[in-house]
Amino acid sequence: MNSLHISCSFDAGAIEVVSLADPQDVRLNIRRDNASDFAQWFYFCLHGAANVPVRLSFLNAGQSAYPKGWEGYRVVCSTDHQNWVRLATEFDGQVMRVALMPESNSVYLAYFEPFSHERHLDLIGSAASSEHVSLQRLGGTVEGRDMTLLRITHASSAMPMALRKKIWLIARQHPGETMAEWFVEGFLERLLDEADPVARVLLDQCVFYVVPNMNPDGAVRGNLRTNAAGANLNREWAAPSLEKSPEVYWVRQKMLEVGVDLSLDAHGDEGLPYNFVAGTEDTPGYNSRIAALAEAFKTSWLAASPDFQTRHGYPRGRHGEANLTVATNWIGQQFDCLAFTIEMPFKDNADLPDPHVGWNGDRSKKLGASVLQPVLAVLDKLRV
Ligand code: ZN
Repeated sequence: MNSLHISCSFDAGAIEVVSLADPQDVRLNIRRDNASDFAQWFYFCLHGAANVPVRLSFLNAGQSAYPKGWEGYRVVCSTDHQNWVRLATEFDGQVMRVALMPESNSVYLAYFEPFSHERHLDLIGSAASSEHVSLQRLGGTVEGRDMTLLRITHASSAMPMALRKKIWLIARQHPGETMAEWFVEGFLERLLDEADPVARVLLDQCVFYVVPNMNPDGAVRGNLRTNAAGANLNREWAAPSLEKSPEVYWVRQKMLEVGVDLSLDAHGDEGLPYNFVAGTEDTPGYNSRIAALAEAFKTSWLAASPDFQTRHGYPRGRHGEANLTVATNWIGQQFDCLAFTIEMPFKDNADLPDPHVGWNGDRSKKLGASVLQPVLAVLDKLRV
């Protein structure tokens, strides 16, 4: 029998091996983000275990950033690095355990279906080949990767540029929330589909500003929640700095330059097994106009996709006490506009579960495509 080996020296790879001596008792620790204490993301390759019954224990699962994230959670697994399925997983409040007997001598395990940096570059490249898309490098990350913005509109439609609504979609401020970039991929595919009537109307009447990955350094490093300097980018919007949070600095500067009529910020939630949105109800500037827009948006999204729901979500805080370092709150307050944080599950949608794959990249793409409908529904009322 080959001896076991675990590797994670690849894009977004992350795990710590404690013991590989006994295939029935492989001991692992979930690794922290490179410059902070958040730990939840893992992604590694197990070698040499073809037809060997293996039991893996994640010893420190109970000390991770979101221990409740392991309740009802199942590890994702792939033998071809393309198709990911769920494995039966146990969590006793401290240790998470998974048993498998791989058919192949190399099998990948991860917290969620990865979205690689190469795929990110391919996504930008393929979008930029459309005549409706212009690509702009806003600046660099802490480690010098590109902060890329896609500006998307129909250049020759009748509506004057100044009258077109400015629609922003940003994703992956928290880099381990890969479903957020799958969401963007589905969104862009539909928006650039010349046969889609909703997309055609939107491209005639809007300018879209899309940042597919707000945190490329954290993504490549296999971080859950922070950039290479240890900053949680979704707490940097009040006063970003070029040293600690250049990713937010550049995007925020562009927003101030061109304006925002609607903002969507895509995330994943470790705990709740649902898709939902969180709005700006607790910001000082929240008003009846925004409330009516938010209702119309949610009503339309409910009709567009059974994967979206409004019964489960975050509890509301107290009015006027919102944390204005959070992107959605800062944007909503700054621009007096409709702004949502979109949350997708790491686990599954409990209303429409898929036992084989759980929530995954493909389903995130479908949800991303579906959000064009509520954007269309509120379009005429976005600006005062
Ligand atoms: Zn997040």
